[in-house]
Amino acid sequence: MRLQGKVAIVTGAGRGIGRAIAHGYGREGAAVVVNYSRSRESAENAAGAIRDAGGRAIAVQADVAHPGGHNALIEAAVKEFGGLDILVNNAGIEIHEPVLDANPETWERIIDVNLKGAYFLSVRAAAVMMGAGGGKIINISSVHDLEPLWNRAIYSISKGGLLMMVKSLALELAEYHICVNAISPGAILTDMNRSHLAQGDRRARLLEQIPLKRIGEAGDIVGAAVFLASSESDYVTGTTIYVDGGLLLHK
Ligand code: NAD
Repeated sequence: MRLQGKVAIVTGAGRGIGRAIAHGYGREGAAVVVNYSRSRESAENAAGAIRDAGGRAIAVQADVAHPGGHNALIEAAVKEFGGLDILVNNAGIEIHEPVLDANPETWERIIDVNLKGAYFLSVRAAAVMMGAGGGKIINISSVHDLEPLWNRAIYSISKGGLLMMVKSLALELAEYHICVNAISPGAILTDMNRSHLAQGDRRARLLEQIPLKRIGEAGDIVGAAVFLASSESDYVTGTTIYVDGGLLLHK
């Protein structure tokens, strides 16, 4: 088991990519704080599945857009499992809004969760990791950190910001043996895009752009997430792994 004895927080882990990563970490021996903002039932269910498989996990409510939520997550990891080795900033939201309809509230909602939340939770986590001799911070970004997504400018801007956040944190935290990296998924079928992709010929058009000729599943992200959390990646920092079936090759 590659994460035996480690303690991880995965934000937004009640469903989708976060849930798959939390399960993957549980399988590899980590104790996992399964964060959720609203749906307690699905997070309890995700944590329960890890425990049923012989692992350790608890579900913890916290809104990553608020500093109080950051404290709650870190305290839960330290109190329940004795420390914090791995943080996965996975929680994210996407709102469809054409640029010409730009609304400051949309900006605040998306940036507060996707970028500001990830930044300040990372800083809080780093303070704990420093005291323990190091750690891993992994950010779930998107191929839209490089390529803008139509009608989702603020989402794309938030992910572009993550790209620089990863490099900036990696630079300043390296001396404390904290590695900071990102995973940028391509098209992964989750609740974030299920209804959008079900409309018209969107799914078929998307498939045409993916060289590996399938839409990804949440489980496709787990291998990279385990690698970046494990000692196998101790010399990897400030970088992004694109897990996209080759989608960016067509851009
Ligand atoms: P999802 O909507 O299923 O999961 C997002 C999770 O974040 C949900 O559990 C949600 O409750 C949680 N969340 C939202 N706001 C929160 C907050 N304020 N505090 C705590 N949790 C909050 O979608 P997903 O596809 O699993 O997305 C996970 C991450 O992957 C996101 O950052 C997303 O941008 C990124 N991503 C997804 C895709 C894709 O194709 N699905 C592609 C690229 C990147």
